[in-house]
Amino acid sequence: MIDKYDVAIIGAGIPGLYCARALSSKGLKVIIFDKSKIPGNPNYSTAGIPKYVVDLFNIPQKAINTEVDVMIYATRNRVCRKKADDVFGYVLDFKKTKEIMAKEVEKFGGVVRWDTNIDNVHRDLDDYSLFSNDVEYKSKYVVDASGVSSQIGENMGIEENIKEPVSVGEEYIIYTKSKALDIYKRSMSLILDYVLCPYGYAWIFDNGNDTFKIGVSEFFINPKHNLPSIDDRLEAFLKWLLKDDVYKIVEKHGGGKLITDKYLQLYKDRMLGIGDSISSLNPFWGEGIRQGLYSAEYAVTAIVQDYHDGNGLSGYARQIKKYHDLNWKISMFISKQIYTRPSQRVFEMMVDYMDRYLTAEEVVSIGFYYSFKTLFFKRPLKFFMMALKQFFQ
Ligand SMILES: Cc1cc2nc3c(=O)[nH]c(=O)nc-3n(C[C@H](O)[C@H](O)[C@H](O)COP(=O)(O)OP(=O)(O)OC[C@H]3O[C@@H](n4cnc5c(N)ncnc54)[C@H](O)[C@@H]3O)c2cc1C
Repeated sequence: MIDKYDVAIIGAGIPGLYCARALSSKGLKVIIFDKSKIPGNPNYSTAGIPKYVVDLFNIPQKAINTEVDVMIYATRNRVCRKKADDVFGYVLDFKKTKEIMAKEVEKFGGVVRWDTNIDNVHRDLDDYSLFSNDVEYKSKYVVDASGVSSQIGENMGIEENIKEPVSVGEEYIIYTKSKALDIYKRSMSLILDYVLCPYGYAWIFDNGNDTFKIGVSEFFINPKHNLPSIDDRLEAFLKWLLKDDVYKIVEKHGGGKLITDKYLQLYKDRMLGIGDSISSLNPFWGEGIRQGLYSAEYAVTAIVQDYHDGNGLSGYARQIKKYHDLNWKISMFISKQIYTRPSQRVFEMMVDYMDRYLTAEEVVSIGFYYSFKTLFFKRPLKFFMMALKQFFQ
């Protein structure tokens, strides 16, 4: 006799687990699968998030590694370092967040299956059949939360044709007592610099206890750029940052990312995609957790509604489209410009302008809320003059 579930979720990343926890807390019979043998793996993300996300999505407090009240935008020549009056973000322990959320799913009666790769999904008359090797599971709804690399959704006719060139990020967690990193304590820091990190940005996030998450990214990859390997770029960045100071690599991880806001098919019948499987990442800050959580919340609302009234999941697609408001679209446009046609002069100018004219709160609002009007219009004349100066330098 095959067990039948109301909802089967493929992928125990943060969005998948959020979905599983919320749906089981509402009384639905839920199962969530992950192919990772070790609960909470893969542990790949820097996991910096705005503070309000922890409260809004009930992210476990115990998974917070660092409180952040400093934001830095820098180039190799200029640093804009702004300390806010209050904590505005957190760096999470990515693996621990998932471990704790998985326990919470179980507390609400949901089933969590690690080490279970879903290799096939079929739609029968009334239900979906999910297969892991030859073991079959049945469910009324399926949520594809399997991230960037999985083909599950595509094979079922969702998430098709949405893929833009893959982006990559690679990161070390390092332990160091180097004084060079003192200015990065309690910070999330972005380095925009054509030499240090072409076609992307580098980052330094304080991870607490003299550990830092340090990485480099490349967005909208174009093989014609012929760049050194991402490993070499990370090594070079570390060398620039720490010179000859001693550090120990605690962990090394990375991953590929899809970026798009062209969602053609987010759901079909009673199956939908959330998180990175529909590419929710915003390249401006490389943030995907918050976006994934919003998609998970919209999925929960749509499934619960359909479970009761049977009117379908179209509300889900509408919510996602609404989420991608004007600010989002502008951030995608600007990201594409600055990462595909990077200009050191523009980077220097942006950092200089932010340093001189913006408050900490305004700098945070650019990073987290894509509030570009602050950047361009707070002192438009100054911005225009600086742009001219940079142009003629
Ligand atoms: C280096 C790096 C740094 C980042 N830093 C940040 C940051 O600071 N802040 C931020 O907000 N975002 C960051 N992101 C992005 C963010 O981590 C992701 O957008 C987010 O974690 C995506 O969650 P997800 O659950 O959709 O996908 P994933 O976290 O990839 O989870 C998918 C899960 O599905 C499982 N799976 C896949 N296929 C199957 C299958 N067939 N059967 C069973 N299980 C399967 C996988 O094992 C995995 O656990 C970063 C990304 C990278 C690469």
